[in-house]
Amino acid sequence: MIDEKEVAIIGMGPGGVSAAIYLSRYGMKPVCFEKDLIGGKTNYTEKIANYAGYLDEKGPQLGLNFSEQLDRFAIKTIYKEVKSVMPNPDGTFDISYGKEVHTFRYVILANGLGEKTYDVKGSDKFSKRGISRCAICDGAFYKGKNVAVLGGGNSAVEEAAYLASICPNVYLISHSVPFKAEQAVMEEFTSHSSAHIYAPYDIKESRGDKILEGLTLVNLEDKTEVDIDINGLFIYIGSIPVNQFLLVKDVLDEHGFVVTDEKMKSKVDGLYAIGDCRKTPLRQVATAVSDGAIAANSIHTDYLKNRR
Ligand SMILES: Cc1cc2nc3c(=O)[nH]c(=O)nc-3n(C[C@H](O)[C@H](O)[C@H](O)COP(=O)(O)OP(=O)(O)OC[C@H]3O[C@@H](n4cnc5c(N)ncnc54)[C@H](O)[C@@H]3O)c2cc1C
Repeated sequence: MIDEKEVAIIGMGPGGVSAAIYLSRYGMKPVCFEKDLIGGKTNYTEKIANYAGYLDEKGPQLGLNFSEQLDRFAIKTIYKEVKSVMPNPDGTFDISYGKEVHTFRYVILANGLGEKTYDVKGSDKFSKRGISRCAICDGAFYKGKNVAVLGGGNSAVEEAAYLASICPNVYLISHSVPFKAEQAVMEEFTSHSSAHIYAPYDIKESRGDKILEGLTLVNLEDKTEVDIDINGLFIYIGSIPVNQFLLVKDVLDEHGFVVTDEKMKSKVDGLYAIGDCRKTPLRQVATAVSDGAIAANSIHTDYLKNRR
């Protein structure tokens, strides 16, 4: 078994888990860091219907499967947030978490993305009660109530489809038309009699006393306004890179994504990036898992070539 301090993986979403499994099978036991849940974003996804071999399963189940698979490979996860990744003159990296700092020869960034913020005017009055970013976590609280979803991509429409199965009216509000979501995802949402679409619309303001009671929407083309009565608003307006902890220079593109080659290596030796956090045309479970396998293979190849 190769020294545990050779490889660190930051983030145990689908990408990090895949890299850990492949590394483990190469005999390279990685040190894995996770600040939240194994499975990353899949834990906050109602259903995964487009991952090969996965038949309409609940997203959190995939997270549980990942955990069990890591157990089978005896891969341990340190449940801490990585605070910094600092390059050393000898080509290694110092990773700090909690009060600890450890040095690694290889680092795989698998930390996914953060959420874009959106300020709903008037929501301070009711301490933002009724506003959520996770339908799978909070949807059940709104069963039998009217809700709205803000966003036009796959994530927004998929979660709107889930809410449409438990709520009498679901208003999907998108700033742009046509929707960015795939046709199959749109069809699933519109197949529900509870589905309503407002596009191109934005939220002008919210109403409510102790809880959210409604929204005023504004048509972005003709500026007309409409009021809808809802108790829940789910916001899915996209994600942004989070990389303040990365103290390695010149590895990001202009938007903050890590640029890699086809081996998942950044331009700095020893530093790799996989999944949603890297510059890539598609951010999905399938691509994150694939990236993880490739990164593990690249690191193993490099290790054998440069064995000290
Ligand atoms: C609502 C929604 C629905 C989706 N539906 C689908 C779908 O149907 N099919 C599909 O294929 N994809 C779907 N996706 C996209 C998919 O979930 C992501 O592409 C995938 O999870 C990316 O995997 P990842 O490993 O790159 O990152 P993530 O899954 O984001 O995992 C990153 C992990 O890193 C951890 N982390 C971050 N920073 C640190 C740190 N500093 N220290 C320690 N840990 C850290 C996070 O806690 C997280 O667990 C959906 C996404 C959302 C939000």
